[in-house]
Amino acid sequence: MNIKKVVIVGAGTMGQGIAQWFVQQGIQTEIADINEKQVRSAIESMSKSWDKLKEKGKFTSEEVETFNNNIQGVDIIGIYTDADLVIEAIVENEKIKTDLFKDLDARMAKKTILATNTSSIPVSSLAKELSEDRKSRFLGLHFFNPAPIMKLVEIIEGHWTDKNLADDLYKWFDEKGKKPAKCKDSPGFIVNRLARNFYGEAFRIIGQEDQTRIKEVDQIMKDVGGFKMGPFELMDLIGIDVNLDVSTSVWNSFYQEPRFAPHRIQKFMVESGRLGRKTKKGFYDYE
Ligand code: NAD
Repeated sequence: MNIKKVVIVGAGTMGQGIAQWFVQQGIQTEIADINEKQVRSAIESMSKSWDKLKEKGKFTSEEVETFNNNIQGVDIIGIYTDADLVIEAIVENEKIKTDLFKDLDARMAKKTILATNTSSIPVSSLAKELSEDRKSRFLGLHFFNPAPIMKLVEIIEGHWTDKNLADDLYKWFDEKGKKPAKCKDSPGFIVNRLARNFYGEAFRIIGQEDQTRIKEVDQIMKDVGGFKMGPFELMDLIGIDVNLDVSTSVWNSFYQEPRFAPHRIQKFMVESGRLGRKTKKGFYDYE
């Protein structure tokens, strides 16, 4: 596996983190988004993060200089067409992702691997409109938030994915210090399927938005359950909108089984613009 040039499409929470991780592996990386402002802000955040890591002694000044040179913000129509790998990290919407992949399929070199960071949409559904050759070079690479730190990467083989490609990527991520896990192309894969009940039960416990109960549940899960973050803190980190989209998608994939049902509090928060850390307001305030 020879990965020298990578393009990340989507410069939100995940795109930024995934791009940062690839740059830190010494890989030339481009990042694109329909929102130009988002690209600028992603690059600024990466730069700030590298400065902090330099102060902590994790990277040298030379390494940080190389990182800054190896990340480019580009317009989506200006991406390298000869990239080895493109990872999509845009909104969790099947139609929007499918349209992007059709466009990439037509423009990218034959060798380019196309991957989705979807949390819940079947990889085979996203592949179905691709050319026959590309279908075998299409798979799910599901990173976790924050991507530069979280080691797990779920590798999802779709119906047409070349088995050797998935195996090679598994080895490649393993060598780079990630913890890859092969997953079946099933709703929510492994982690997001299990996690639905982590959030769902938390909502059922609080019943309605109640700050005291929210803090209590988070604290208990950390103290007793040994989790690094409680369910409400984690939802704020993920993004309430992103988490609602994932919940809805997994629920629909299971023919609306009640155990996967999204909660009205999620919908209410999205409608009122409280999306978690990224809007500085979620279950907690981040001013
Ligand atoms: P986000 O809302 O932070 O960012 C999404 C970005 O995509 C935005 O900047 C938006 O402008 C851009 N975008 C939307 N449509 C586009 C298009 N057609 N072309 C180019 N850019 C477009 O979302 P996120 O949290 O980064 O999630 C992105 C993907 O990663 C989703 O599929 C999500 O399910 C998945 N994911 C999220 C998490 C998480 O913790 N947030 C974890 C793993 C996977």
